[in-house]
Amino acid sequence: MMHSILPRQALRLLHTVSPPSSSSSSLSITAVTAAATTTRRAISSSQLSIDPLTSDQLNSLHSKLPPKETLKFGKTFAPHMLQIYYNKEKGGWQSPTIVPFQDLKLSPASAALHYGLECFEGMKAYKSINDESDLRLFRPELNMKRLKDSMARLAMPGFDFDPQELIHCIGKLVRLDQDWIPSGKGYSLYLRPTVIATHPYLGLSPPDELLLYVITSPVGPYYASGFNPVRLTTDNPYVRAWPGGAGASKVGGNYASTIMPGALANARGYSQILWIFGEDEHVTEVGAMNVFFLLEKENGNRELVTPPLTRGDILPGVTRQSILELTKTWGEFDVVERSITMPEIQDVGSRGRLIEAFGAGTAAVVTPISAIQYKGQDIEIDAPGDLTKRLFSDLMDIQYGEVEGPKGWSVRI
Ligand SMILES: *Cc1c(COP(=O)(O)O)cnc(C)c1O
Repeated sequence: MMHSILPRQALRLLHTVSPPSSSSSSLSITAVTAAATTTRRAISSSQLSIDPLTSDQLNSLHSKLPPKETLKFGKTFAPHMLQIYYNKEKGGWQSPTIVPFQDLKLSPASAALHYGLECFEGMKAYKSINDESDLRLFRPELNMKRLKDSMARLAMPGFDFDPQELIHCIGKLVRLDQDWIPSGKGYSLYLRPTVIATHPYLGLSPPDELLLYVITSPVGPYYASGFNPVRLTTDNPYVRAWPGGAGASKVGGNYASTIMPGALANARGYSQILWIFGEDEHVTEVGAMNVFFLLEKENGNRELVTPPLTRGDILPGVTRQSILELTKTWGEFDVVERSITMPEIQDVGSRGRLIEAFGAGTAAVVTPISAIQYKGQDIEIDAPGDLTKRLFSDLMDIQYGEVEGPKGWSVRI
């Protein structure tokens, strides 16, 4: 059961509830309430203006684009970016602009730099395999909903924007830089929508100024030659997320504290951490991916398990949700969102009932797991398994327009 209210509901409450009249009313409630009582400007794609590079500049940049086979994740950027400022004094969201990719100019007092008031998204634009001019996004409304929820969790104003308006602006950006979308299965333009609090104020309060921007990066297949199964470890004292924390939001602060434990795991020969939580050792996520286990039950039936969103310590992945929905339509095994603990994994592993395990996320789609270190012992798992391989190809077939997926999954832009 979820007893807590969702961040968006909480922020709406802040918006609607009048602050107590006594002087004890906190500044933050006053600020948020004030922001809500004046009519605020929404994100409007009809106000989008574009300040593009010249075709000579573009040609010159394109000639320096590395061959697609050598692209490294997140290192090469397309020539333009989308920017939308939010400014409370100016009435809310300003007109969206597409400008050349450029450094930002920020006050060193910006709240994002001090208190981590930053959230982001990760999504991809694909060129259809059969028609290079047919550009697609995968379930972008889910990314927009998650971005709004992350903003609400960080008390950012303006989170109530219309998702379609932002998707429309992103579509224009992708079209403008379509020559930076490498073609072929596994290739895409990775999109990084980001919101930072630019409010120059060292007080701890909801920010009045934001910058929402989108940069894009051509990427190749995560696994250049076949799958690369990962070995995981649970043996560390660190915790990624906890009930009541921000683990269900894609906020930058969640990742900063995972880099050192991740590097220690690497040094011990494990490529990622399997994050567990609490006395019961609940499995939560792997690295920055959701995690799935295919188990054989006592009665011989198979069960696909992923941890539930109810505790608030799991990031609601688009890939996760898509895998749950897809496998349910197959009707070949039980598909269950439930808590799963390390003692259970160890038990099914030791009895040969742990059939497959994999991570799920936009970057790699699915990542086979071949071992999990727990209390000094490695639980070995066959990898890649048949389900992992099937999900990989079925999801990609939809993303690249080769197979018509469920309505709204592969969206033309
Ligand atoms: C982004 C992310 C995921 C995967 O989400 P997708 O929408 O499938 O890309 C899973 N876990 C964490 C912690 C993440 O940051």
